[in-house]
Amino acid sequence: MMDKVVTSGEKLNNYLSLSKEEKAFFEECERKGNQSLPLHVPLSWLERIEGEDCPLRKQSVPHINEFTSTGEELLDPIGDRRHSPLKGLIHHYDDRVLVLITDRCAMYCRHCFRRHFTGRGGALKESEIDSILDYLEEHKEVHEVIISGGDALMAPYNRLEYLLNGLNDLKRPLVKRVGTRLPLVYPDIISERILNLLGAQKSLWLVMQINHVKELSPAAIGIIQEIRKRGIPMLNQAVLLKGVNDSVEAQINLSYALIEEGIKPYYLFQGDLAKGTSHFRVPLDRALELYEELGKRVSHLALPRFGLDLPGGGGKVNLEASSMVRKDEEYYYFRNGKGQVGRYPREEE
Ligand code: SF4
Repeated sequence: MMDKVVTSGEKLNNYLSLSKEEKAFFEECERKGNQSLPLHVPLSWLERIEGEDCPLRKQSVPHINEFTSTGEELLDPIGDRRHSPLKGLIHHYDDRVLVLITDRCAMYCRHCFRRHFTGRGGALKESEIDSILDYLEEHKEVHEVIISGGDALMAPYNRLEYLLNGLNDLKRPLVKRVGTRLPLVYPDIISERILNLLGAQKSLWLVMQINHVKELSPAAIGIIQEIRKRGIPMLNQAVLLKGVNDSVEAQINLSYALIEEGIKPYYLFQGDLAKGTSHFRVPLDRALELYEELGKRVSHLALPRFGLDLPGGGGKVNLEASSMVRKDEEYYYFRNGKGQVGRYPREEE
């Protein structure tokens, strides 16, 4: 399978003819002897790229701006480490936990906010999953388990099965949410076996990240139909990305395409303050205007909630007037579900 994936700048240049800024990224990596986030792009995704402004290109091809970092940016922008009682487990909200079953993805998105973690280690071992299951046995307040990474479906099949079986053995209703981009970025490697495993689960939701309608290729739609046939409900969590989907038209097209495929637009997220991603962030002033306009143009079925993870682990807030406390010249201030106030900067374009 590896020959169907591009992992070096040289090979990428053969396919795309890299721009000056894209080449500069690889030159800088060579100079610095490191690469912040690995390069990993399936050929089937690359072949669909059209031109320098293509939304598929922006999400997958590195840019020199990844080496730029603003003073507000953080290595761990949503504070995963602060809320991690065990390896691979984040327990931030009382009723739900996040299990990072693997750090592998079929494609490393250049806007990834979990880039301090992604593509570095591998999947959890069975013994580590056992510790998480013991924790859940004790923490009866947990009702939902979000299995993500990385990409949950990039975990070895046996490891995912082991986790799902372990959760089922806890003998209490636990809703599972599985986070993946695999149906979009590399549908060819999704096996019938894994679809059947997901389909056999009670209360399992599949949560994807589809940011632009162009990601819905015929192969992706084929897999999405297979998922639907198995009765698995699907949600989408998009990220608002400059140059990819930061127009009302792009959002409307995405929302319509999603509901036509039976996927509920669940969240649109404002970009997290992850180091090296400022070129993707839409200033919050403009983002709020865009969302307001979207709300006037589509039905509630097609309208995602607009959310933000407060920097440093302040938690999720919905970017609606009710959660916004105030704004000043430099920041917007929001109140989270626990009544605490956090802030997000008003950045320039
Ligand atoms: S699939 Fe998710 S975790 Fe993986 S690189 Fe993309 S955004 Fe990051």
